Amino acid sequence: MFKKILVANRGEIALRIQRACRELGVRAVMVYSEADREAKYVKLAEEAVCIGPAPSPQSYLNMPAIISAAEVTDAEAIHPGYGFLSENADFAERVEKSGFQFIGPTPEAIRIMGDKVSAKQAMIKAGVPCVPGSEGELPDDAVQIKRIAKTVGYPVIIKAAGGGGGRGMRVVHTEAALVNAVQMTKAEAGAAFNNPAVYMEKFLQNPRHVEIQILADKYRNAVYLGERDCSMQRRHQKVIEESPAPGIPRRLIDRIGERCVAACKKIGYRGAGTFEFLYEDGEFYFIEMNTRVQVEHPVTELTTGVDIVKTQIMVAAGEKLPFTQRQIVMRGHAIECRVNAEDPYKFTPSPGRITMWHAPGGPGVRVDSHIYTNYFVPPNYDSMVGKIIVHGDTRDQAMARMRTALAETVVEGIQTNIPLHRELMADARFMEGGTNIHYLEEWLGRHKR
Ligand code: ADP
Repeated sequence: MFKKILVANRGEIALRIQRACRELGVRAVMVYSEADREAKYVKLAEEAVCIGPAPSPQSYLNMPAIISAAEVTDAEAIHPGYGFLSENADFAERVEKSGFQFIGPTPEAIRIMGDKVSAKQAMIKAGVPCVPGSEGELPDDAVQIKRIAKTVGYPVIIKAAGGGGGRGMRVVHTEAALVNAVQMTKAEAGAAFNNPAVYMEKFLQNPRHVEIQILADKYRNAVYLGERDCSMQRRHQKVIEESPAPGIPRRLIDRIGERCVAACKKIGYRGAGTFEFLYEDGEFYFIEMNTRVQVEHPVTELTTGVDIVKTQIMVAAGEKLPFTQRQIVMRGHAIECRVNAEDPYKFTPSPGRITMWHAPGGPGVRVDSHIYTNYFVPPNYDSMVGKIIVHGDTRDQAMARMRTALAETVVEGIQTNIPLHRELMADARFMEGGTNIHYLEEWLGRHKR
């Protein structure tokens, strides 16, 4: 096992990794920007290094600063968390070239999965079902583009190969609008992702977002840890996640899980990863893979009892997965609400000083957050300030626990989306389970204020 790990991230995930390190008896070096200097997880760290000013390009995205922080502190490995540099293949490569272990997959695996066209091609080869669409990047020729769309069938969605974060996508309903839409998406993709390549998929009308968590070691052992339903989204951003996915037969999950495991073995994947699917009419369609720990990993930790972050560190240190597929047993139901510092209905960010924070507790309640009374939420980063996660024997019990947890939570000084979560947890349709990816936006449209 490593003696020391550098945590190249901030906020709740930095604290989550620090906790995993403490449990493993590993020293965690925290890095921080000037805006995060006062944060408690930085103050309470065994070691901490300032890597630059508040703007992330100068700190959390600053590769030389992060690598020198690892050098001066004699860390052996770097955990990238999620966001920032976590899916940057060049960063992973530089980390390894500098003699550190990157806690994640190989740079090659990140690169293949980071380009959605090559990711889809790898999945098709590995026997993972994908959304029907163009066989790769779209050609320039208008006649050919139209021919592909006709085969796929309207409506279609044009997506950037290098896209992410819900950006670089355009839905097309008619042939008349097609060629112009392709050109516009290409231009945007070139500007935003430095890669103008786009591809086409059939636009699924009412799918759910269901994803499979996997863990793999360097010895081609891999397991899947069940699924998460992340259909409650606003602008393609997840708001609520849960496991298991309501109403999907276990045999379908097992079948797709086994495909994901086979794909991991085939591509020599190591570490934690998530295969994201759209699920419609009993079928799964792969859309992309995330090659890192995800925000919503705790729901899987609560249903399987597996510590995903600790396992990431163990397999990066060269250990074998400490369990086989047969030992993975899902129990009960878990739900996560993302707590964002924002206006709950207008969604404008609400950074500033938290004058009062009272966290919920009790059986089956977990809070992953770095905030506290008198913490200042900096305006420079993502608005998510924590997660409330609950576990119960049944979905109904988990929902009841979430309602209690949300009722107990007090945040003063800034606005949060907790009032929105309270309403959603009492929404009759959501309580039934199995809402699709449009449900939350439609709900927000009906509840305008
Ligand atoms: P990103 O990397 O930007 O998150 P994804 O490929 O994961 O992009 O897609 C994000 C979201 O966009 C999905 O969760 C879904 O809501 C929507 N989406 C993507 N592809 C399709 C499709 N073929 N049909 C319908 N919706 C889609």
